[in-house]
Amino acid sequence: MAMNSTGRPTAPAQPLDPGADLQTFSGSRGLAQVEPLLHKVGSPEKCGVDLADVPNHTARLGNLKRQNPVDLPGLSEPEAMRHYVRLSQRNYAIDLGLYPLGSCTMKHNPRLNEKLARLPGFADVHPLQPQSTVQGALALMDELSHWLMAITGMDAVALSPKAGAHGEWCGMMCIRAAIEERGELGKRRRVLVPQSAHGTNPATAAACGFDIDELPADATGRVDMEVLRRKIGPDVAAIMLTNPNTCGLFERDIREIADLVHEAGGYFYCDGANLNAIMGKTRVRDLGVDAMHINLHKTFSTPHGGGGPGAGPVVLSKRLRNYAPVPYLVRDGQSLALVEDEAQSEAKPFGRMSAFHGQMGMFVRALAYMMSHGSDGLRRVSEDAVLNANYLLARLSDEMSPAYPGVCMHEALFDDDFLKDTGVTTLDFAKAMIDEGYHPMTMYFPLVVHGAMLIEPTETESKESLDRFADTLLALAKAAKSGAAARFTEAPLLAPLRRLDETRAARSPVLRWQET
Ligand SMILES: *Cc1c(COP(=O)(O)O)cnc(C)c1O
Repeated sequence: MAMNSTGRPTAPAQPLDPGADLQTFSGSRGLAQVEPLLHKVGSPEKCGVDLADVPNHTARLGNLKRQNPVDLPGLSEPEAMRHYVRLSQRNYAIDLGLYPLGSCTMKHNPRLNEKLARLPGFADVHPLQPQSTVQGALALMDELSHWLMAITGMDAVALSPKAGAHGEWCGMMCIRAAIEERGELGKRRRVLVPQSAHGTNPATAAACGFDIDELPADATGRVDMEVLRRKIGPDVAAIMLTNPNTCGLFERDIREIADLVHEAGGYFYCDGANLNAIMGKTRVRDLGVDAMHINLHKTFSTPHGGGGPGAGPVVLSKRLRNYAPVPYLVRDGQSLALVEDEAQSEAKPFGRMSAFHGQMGMFVRALAYMMSHGSDGLRRVSEDAVLNANYLLARLSDEMSPAYPGVCMHEALFDDDFLKDTGVTTLDFAKAMIDEGYHPMTMYFPLVVHGAMLIEPTETESKESLDRFADTLLALAKAAKSGAAARFTEAPLLAPLRRLDETRAARSPVLRWQET
């Protein structure tokens, strides 16, 4: 048993739960509380507050009065509280441990950001308030825009997109509008997308009415330039390229790629989800980019996961800035104003993407993150993110198989070569990580690598945390190679739920609660 200097045990004697077979009477397992569905905790007859009957009133709803009960479970405050806290305890979170999900940049969300986002001047404003009463909020959006343009060197920014994929749509619609204005929409139909791209890239191009043409990767995991040169032509509308790409590698030929696309009359859309690797080091403008989304919820630490609100502002080059959607901010003398109406615009907005101006709460958090780091701090963020990923790449290479030789950017990519003939798959390996208390890395993505495992530690992990993670993965890799396949194929053994039928859950989700 591991002991500290005062003789206290610091780790359990047994590596696996010795009480795994113990059936408890309550259904809870120690601190893991059993929790039924909300509809079983509360009931429609119950009410969480005591309200006196309203004397002598006549309903003014007429025949709009509800005939049937709403059938929502009534709950007291502690019941509601416990329900969600208990469920949260069965889940994984960045506040609980390292979250190595590649390409997702799961970094710590500083609490300072939360404090500022809750200031009533930001949290309690309404998007339909007169603009003269929200000048502070507009000034914050203006300042955020300046930071985003300074970081990327780009000419304009559209703030309203609410996620990376939404930003892609915004950028590609700007490109479409520019092509349409040139009268070339009929003949410029092809969008080049590398095979390693995030699925949202081809989906966006298709949603904008383009045809997708796949670009293979070369032996180093980057765009195959020979194929690209062959494919480029006057019918190319754009290329959608991620840099660093989803193999965690810098596209070294990016300048040449941009030039080739521009010479052919096309546009360069850059997927900026991996900005955390190059922020403050590489100016996006210098790469020849025409449009790029920035996932504030990745690079700038606004919370994400579980479908929470994101924000995907899009920076635009001079060639595209005119097509940015409404609403957008303009300075009007001393004050700021949102241009809401396409007809009022002096530019040529392609349209509107959402009811209002974007995710205010995320804007506040992102700007708080930027200002608390400063420009030197933001550069340091990307340096440390890359350092941490390379530290893991170097340590894990002892037992695991890197997909490509050499150093990486902000994420380390492995293939399943090290699991060959062990009877353990990438999926099994990931499930065994759950037993070890870790959220698995990104699996089977990018598609260009067999059995891919994509690990992104981010800059907010300490060396101790990285070492503990690396030690665990190395031990798992050794166990797989030494024939302990059952530990993997049965995993997770210690999670609240075992292996779920994820395909069935996705294909035929049960969205309505039913009494069984
Ligand atoms: C996360 C991500 C996206 C999509 O961003 P969302 O905010 O999830 O819509 C697109 N491309 C890459 C490379 C990503 O990692």
